[in-house]
Formats: sequence, C-alpha cells, structure tokens
Amino acid sequence: MEQQERNQQAAAAESVLEKLAEQGVVGVAATWVDNSGVTRVKAVPLRRLPAAAAWGIGASPVFDAFLVDDSITSGRHAGGPVGDLRLHPDLSRLTVLAEQPGWAWAPADRHRQDGSVHPQDQRSLAKRAVAELAGAGLTAMAAFEVEWAVGEAGAGDAFVPAARGPAYGYTRLSERSDYVRDLLVAFERQGVVVEQIHPEYGAGQFEVSVAAEDPVGAADTLVLVRETVRATSARHGMRASFSPKVLAEDVGNGGHVHLSLWRGDQNLFTGGAGQHGLTEEAGAFTAGILLRLPALLAVGAPSVASYLRLVPHHWAGAFQAWGPENRETALRVVAGSPGNQGRAANLEVKAFDLAANPYLVVAALIYAGLAGLRDGARLPPSVDVDPATLSDDERARRGILALPSSLGDVADAFEADPVLTRAFGTELADTIVDVRRAEAELFADATPEDVAAAVRWRY
Ligand code: GLU
Ligand code: MG
Repeated sequence: MEQQERNQQAAAAESVLEKLAEQGVVGVAATWVDNSGVTRVKAVPLRRLPAAAAWGIGASPVFDAFLVDDSITSGRHAGGPVGDLRLHPDLSRLTVLAEQPGWAWAPADRHRQDGSVHPQDQRSLAKRAVAELAGAGLTAMAAFEVEWAVGEAGAGDAFVPAARGPAYGYTRLSERSDYVRDLLVAFERQGVVVEQIHPEYGAGQFEVSVAAEDPVGAADTLVLVRETVRATSARHGMRASFSPKVLAEDVGNGGHVHLSLWRGDQNLFTGGAGQHGLTEEAGAFTAGILLRLPALLAVGAPSVASYLRLVPHHWAGAFQAWGPENRETALRVVAGSPGNQGRAANLEVKAFDLAANPYLVVAALIYAGLAGLRDGARLPPSVDVDPATLSDDERARRGILALPSSLGDVADAFEADPVLTRAFGTELADTIVDVRRAEAELFADATPEDVAAAVRWRY
C-alpha cells in the first residue's frame, strides 16, 4: 500500500463520517475470520475511521494460530507473541448494522506494517483466486447458505431449543414471527438480498439463503449474515448456534456453498452438451473440485465437530460423488427450472459447514476448479440415488467413496495436495495443517457430546 493509496483511503473514510454520524454510528467493527472459523474483531470509534483506513488497526499475527477454544498452537509460521499486522477495513463494504445500534461493520484485509499483504491473509487469498479466474476469462458467483439453531438464552451453555414447532413447520415460523420479521428488516436495511428463510429440520433450526454475488462479497456477506442473526437472536432472548453439530444426536448446521461459473454473461452450468446440461468447462471445474474433496474438507469442514455432522442420511453430503438435485452426495448440481436456468444453474457444495473460514472456502474451490480446467478433468457418471443405500460392491463399482471421517485425515489430504498448498502459499498452508492437527489433538479423547458442547457457541 503506497502513500497515495493511504491518502485516498483516508479521504474516502473522511467523506462518509458525517453521514455515518447522522445515522447514529459511534463505533466501527473491522472483522477477519481466523483459520478455525471464528470471526475476530477490532473496533475503532467513528472519528478514528480515516486513520484506520489509511494505516490499519493493529492486530497480532498470533490469531493465525488460534484454535476454536482460544488456545494457541505453536505453528511453524504462526503462534508467537512477536509482530504486528494492520487491519484495513474495506470501505466498499462498510455497513451500518441494523441490529447493533451505534455500530457499523466492515470486513478487513490484513497487511504488514510496510503495507504489503500479509501472506497468511485469507481474504486477500480469496481476492487472488478471483483474479486468477479472471485471468482465464472467467468469473464466479457464489452464495453461502446459513443454517443455525436458536436456543433459550437463559439456559446457560446448554441447548434448549427456543422454537418448538416441527421441521419446516409453519408453527415454528409463527411462534417466532417477530424474530424472523426483524431478521428480514435487518437484512434489507443492510443490503443483504434474501432469497428465502425457513425453519429447518433440526431442533430450533432455521436457514436463510441469500443472492449470489462475487465470491469475496459472498464470504463478506456470510460474516454479516451471521452477526446479524446473532445480534437479532440476542435481542429476542435467544442464542444462535452455527456449530456443525449443536447436539450430538441431531442433524447439524450446514454451510452449503453455491457456485456458478461464467464467461461474460453466459452461465457455464447450463446449456452445455455434458451431463445435465453442463458445459465442458463447468464439467472440468466441477471435476477438479470433486477430485480434491478430501483435501478441500480441511478448509470447508475444518473442525472435529464437522465430522459428527458429515455422516450419511443427514443431507450433509458424506460421499465423494455428484448428482443432479442429490442431497446425499457432496456435490449437488442445481439445474434450475427451464426458462430460469441461465440465472439459477449452479453447483452446491453440501459437505461444508460454518466452522469454515468463508474466504478460504471460496479460494480453495476456485483453485480446485481451475486445476480441473487446466487438467481437462472429466466428471464420472452422476449419481441419482442416496449412495448409502447402495451395497459396498455397487458403490465400489460406481467409484463412489465415502469422504474421510476425521479432521486428521483431511489435514493429511490437504497437506498432500500440491495444487491447494501451492495456491495458498507455504505459510498459510502449513498453518492450516498445524491448526487442524492441534484441534484434532485437543478433542482426541472427547466424546461427541463433549465436542458438541465445547464448540456450540463458538462460531
Ligand atoms: N442440515 C443439513 C446439513 O447439515 C442440510 C439440510 C439441507 O439440505 O438443507 O447440511
Ligand atoms: Mg438447509
């Protein structure tokens, strides 16, 4: 970051101060997401925003080595007490928060003091991935689905569902209609475009889907959506859990990612000659992701709790396979209704959850897809049944593998993947492996109930 850019940033912040003050903004929260999937924050009073925009807000690099319980692993390239980074709020995403009066929010990029990008900055990696895609003449659109469960705030750390109606039941919506209305109002005021919101299958569970946008924007939106749900829940006497497994014996919270690939205004997930209308490019992109799913899980399902969720018959996508509208394969191709396919066709990655850092997720998917394109990867035949209902022999015949079932296994797969580790860079890739192994170690002797309880309110 050169002096001229610093001056421009300060001037840009200066120019919005008055308007923000009129809207009652007192503090600005700058967030980043750590490698364990926890959103971390530093805040400044409004008058400090221009200085923060120009020079960043100080933050230790130690957060790269944070685990979900706030313990710190001694990683190969992170975890020490020395050093300082600067959080640069992205003013283009500066949003006045509807459910936290007096507050505005912006996602931050992490730079070094000399202005260069911190090599382990996840949001900058996502930007780099998008730029590489652009280098291939392509763009992507993405959206994260957010599932969460509401618990009674008065129940301490235990989970007592704060909505009792049945799964997808209108009762659950009507008993919490003020809450869901306030969520819709808040999203609207914050410029988050909601596509649908509904009660989900699990106890006290809800889900919101938002419109697709550029991948970095989609990751930012996930951060904003989650904090909006959290704040609104608190105001209604509830606590929101985004954990992959709120209760050891229930279905989990997914963080499904929708992704489409575009050349100009053509959605490559429709109108092609491949299976289910995929173009050759969308097929190769998808095949690149399918092939690397075990390694990608180290990014998209990055917690011990993720593997309590990622089991058959939970619509979590526990098999390394793809299929049209298949909710038990890790990859689901959504074709959309005839007439609307140009807009709607996309790839849904179901195996991922909200313990994931969304910036790492979009980066990893793009790099995996790009590798598929480069290698001319081809998709195997699609799967249109629940793979768990097939015999072992039949699954083997069709080449369908169960995805790895532990955090340690996916850390190994990630470490062994040359495409992802090269794209992430040695320092970030090693740190991710270090953090995953440390979390596996942290919960090595824990029962599923212990794990669910330990991380229930962390994400
Ligand atoms: N809750 C499920 C999961 O863990 C997903 C349900 C659905 O398909 O929306 O991913
Ligand atoms: Mg759902």
